[in-house]
Amino acid sequence: MKTIIEPFRIKTVEPICMTTAEERAVILKEAHYNLFALSAEDVLIDLLTDSGTGAMSSEQWAAAMRGDESYAGSASWERFEASVKTVFGFGYVIPTHQGRAAERILFACLCQPGDVVPNNTHFDTTRANIEYRGAEAVDLVIPEGKQPEAIHPFKGNMDTGALKALIKEKGAENIPLIMLTITNNSMGGQPVSMANIREVASIARKHDIPLYFDACRFAENAYFIKLREEGYAGKSVREIALEMFSHADGCTMSAKKDGLANIGGFLCTNDELLAQQEKNLLILTEGFPTYGGLAGRDLDAIAVGLEEVLHEDYLEYRLASTRYLGEHITREGVPIVQPPGGHAIYIDARAMLPHIPPAQYPGQALACELYLEAGIRSVEIGSVMFGKTDPETGEEIPAEMELVRLAIPRRVYTQSHVDYVVEAIIAVFERRNDIRGMRITQQAPYLRHFTARFERA
Ligand SMILES: *Cc1c(COP(=O)(O)O)cnc(C)c1O
Repeated sequence: MKTIIEPFRIKTVEPICMTTAEERAVILKEAHYNLFALSAEDVLIDLLTDSGTGAMSSEQWAAAMRGDESYAGSASWERFEASVKTVFGFGYVIPTHQGRAAERILFACLCQPGDVVPNNTHFDTTRANIEYRGAEAVDLVIPEGKQPEAIHPFKGNMDTGALKALIKEKGAENIPLIMLTITNNSMGGQPVSMANIREVASIARKHDIPLYFDACRFAENAYFIKLREEGYAGKSVREIALEMFSHADGCTMSAKKDGLANIGGFLCTNDELLAQQEKNLLILTEGFPTYGGLAGRDLDAIAVGLEEVLHEDYLEYRLASTRYLGEHITREGVPIVQPPGGHAIYIDARAMLPHIPPAQYPGQALACELYLEAGIRSVEIGSVMFGKTDPETGEEIPAEMELVRLAIPRRVYTQSHVDYVVEAIIAVFERRNDIRGMRITQQAPYLRHFTARFERA
């Protein structure tokens, strides 16, 4: 059969609240054109993020019921630890309430002020936690990774020439760890190849620098390797994932992504001494090392999620449904970051709306139109999120790209939902020349995209 179907049946349904275009016009105005300010009930299809928004399986709900809420040494912890060790292969596992807590603990143990941490592309919480320690976060993705239209099978790869040059310039002693984000979320959910992982690992080993993965979407990355890299077609995703992790010294993980859970995360390492330091910090702010801020039922749900995410029928559906959205809008001429990544489609708003200058936020304008057209919530990843003010001129320096991200929650929406999204995007694309830019009327000094207010320019 050629048709790829959702590899599940639906046992519980959650009604979507329908709205009319007239109602949405009022709602959006009242939210000051900021989609973060919407009540989720006023959203028909919510593509704001794939983080913690997935649907749990019947086995995960059954596991949650088995959750053992003992403070220390619960059976849930034992199942969780066994699952993480089996799938990831690291010696020590430290549970946390989500990914950024794992990052904070790792960098608190490893980074000193003045240190430099290279990554293909730092996710924003990763960057913030490194900078909070007074260290510098450097992005070294290959040049293709920064060009929306460039086609490359592994656009998440690290530029190993640039990595070697950085080590030479800064000195290995000032680089406490090297990171690879798999898949590379901030640059379109693009995968990293096994060959690149191997090369980065050998550079790291040569200089005695530990290599860590930001492993949030490790299963999607492993499946891309199976599909695209020579020599991996016949291997299971589980084997590929273990091979990936065998090159690293540890990882940070948000279970809200490829843990198929609504909350949770963890930190892994092979270093016994480091694990002890990390556990000491964990006790201070997260919880005892056998729960780390999570309920026993969360640990159990994650233990099952990490197994389910490796099912290849699930991964085939997952990548196919993201690709389906990307291909159907590309066919109509909508410019997107190519090729479609694992968890999201990114529309290139600068290319789609060339008449709106970056200073009038084409991404924000497009995100608002998708809501008005069909009740779809997306997120601007452009100058609203990353624009900086020039300290001398006071003028705004635009972001490198003006993107709108449509992130696909796991196992939540069906193909007809995606067809509806495709229709809406095409309708907005057809009237693109009439779309006006936006201006900010109120903003916070940091992370303004969450709370800024807008009006039409
Ligand atoms: C989501 C995410 C994180 C942070 O995880 P949280 O659970 O949201 O704290 C870190 N890195 C990447 C690549 C992510 O996608």
